[in-house]
Amino acid sequence: MVSSPQDLRPIVVSGPSGVGKGTLIQKLFDTHPATFGFTVSHTTRKPRPGEVEGVAYFFVSPSEFSSLCSQGALVEHAYFSGNYYGTSKQTIDDQARKGLVVVLDIEMQGVKQMKANPSIEARYVFIKPPSFEALEARLRARGTENEEDLRKRLTQAQFELDYAESQGSFDKIIVNDSIETAYEELEMFVFGRA
Ligand code: 5GP
Repeated sequence: MVSSPQDLRPIVVSGPSGVGKGTLIQKLFDTHPATFGFTVSHTTRKPRPGEVEGVAYFFVSPSEFSSLCSQGALVEHAYFSGNYYGTSKQTIDDQARKGLVVVLDIEMQGVKQMKANPSIEARYVFIKPPSFEALEARLRARGTENEEDLRKRLTQAQFELDYAESQGSFDKIIVNDSIETAYEELEMFVFGRA
């Protein structure tokens, strides 16, 4: 049986780097393959080992990114930890046209831009670490960043956590202490049961 949320608005998942957003989103897709569609962002970041073009991201040069921006092709975009990231209208339309509920994985600046845009209606979820120390430990264990990038991401994480705490920033805040519990909460929210 194909399960479908009653609320079909796009779901924006945000949270500091290393908090486990990607894992939770992947679990949502694996559990409900015919329900949700992921927006593939554009980024100027270099691919990590195993990241596939057009699946993880569309990897572009800074000048390609800047032309997408000036053409108005991006719904939102941000400069994060030395690289640009953005969501194209095209990737949202591609998923919506398939009848899928669109899921975005974006950072705080993008969330703010989307919320400020009166033509966008979405639901906003923030994934929070159990503590700042736990986030740092996770990010280090992931081993995908050098020390400088890791420090930048942790500095940014504090701003993201502060923003999430401010009134009305997110419809739902989920603490990712145990992945199973956090996933259950995400699923309940997505399907309108929380
Ligand atoms: P990473 O380099 O670890 O893949 O992503 C860094 C951060 O950029 C993450 O917090 C992720 O959510 C965010 N991000 C990924 N794609 C986009 C996007 O299209 N727009 C914005 N604003 N943030 C994004």
